[in-house]
Amino acid sequence: MDAVSTDPCDQHRCQVLGVGVDACRDVHAAAIGLHARGGGQIVTLNAEMTMAARADAQLGAAIAAAELVIPDGAGVVWALARQGVRVGRSPGIELARALLAYAEAHGWTVALIGAAPEVMDRLRQRLAAELPALRLVMAEHGYQSAESWPLLERRLQVLKPDLVLVALGVPRQETWTQRLHADQPGLWMGVGGSFDVWAGVKQRAPQWMGRLQVEWLYRLVQEPSRWRRMLSLPGFAWEVIRRGEGRAKRR
Ligand code: UDP
Repeated sequence: MDAVSTDPCDQHRCQVLGVGVDACRDVHAAAIGLHARGGGQIVTLNAEMTMAARADAQLGAAIAAAELVIPDGAGVVWALARQGVRVGRSPGIELARALLAYAEAHGWTVALIGAAPEVMDRLRQRLAAELPALRLVMAEHGYQSAESWPLLERRLQVLKPDLVLVALGVPRQETWTQRLHADQPGLWMGVGGSFDVWAGVKQRAPQWMGRLQVEWLYRLVQEPSRWRRMLSLPGFAWEVIRRGEGRAKRR
């Protein structure tokens, strides 16, 4: 961050390939601060999503309107570093888990939306054991029939949870959240495959892969069907280098 303040809620909007992302001293503090200010949407940005946002106007608009966009992927952190903005990687799954723990400790109400029905069942059981005081007011899987969604959305709007974690995959979780969270208090955050990991159905990449910045390779081996989406990664790196983002700033 060029001008680093000591405010733990410090949040400074930067751009990576035209997509907004926040450099924060502490993403957890920024999220809690956002809740205190009336809530908002949290997006976890990685390189794949940055490229998707450039091709999908609705996703781009949802990210631009989000109150907090955290750098979830190594590619985004690298692109920011080229601009002289030094931030650590903030995996969304870790922030989401920390927010669940905070919710339990502070009596926040929580809603979980998304993942397969059996994943949601296992997650409910696990959370009951791991965070027994969590006030889980809603926990619904993400494969509802078309007729069920409006009712589910209405229930959410009436319940007004302090924290809504949405695992519907990119871009749906971002665009769905953008549509629903307006005029709602609380934090609304897209969490991708986090419920699968918390339910024990999928594993996160080992830490050494994270350090070598090859977590994407682990995901590809676990889910080979992602290869098409991942084709955007070299394009991201090339575009950041080609545009020379940040060079002008350093001169
Ligand atoms: N999902 C869902 N409903 C759908 C499509 C996907 O609930 O119609 C869930 C899916 O079961 C998984 C999550 O959304 O738990 C997406 O995980 P993924 O790792 O693909 O997230 P992404 O990389 O897209 O953020």
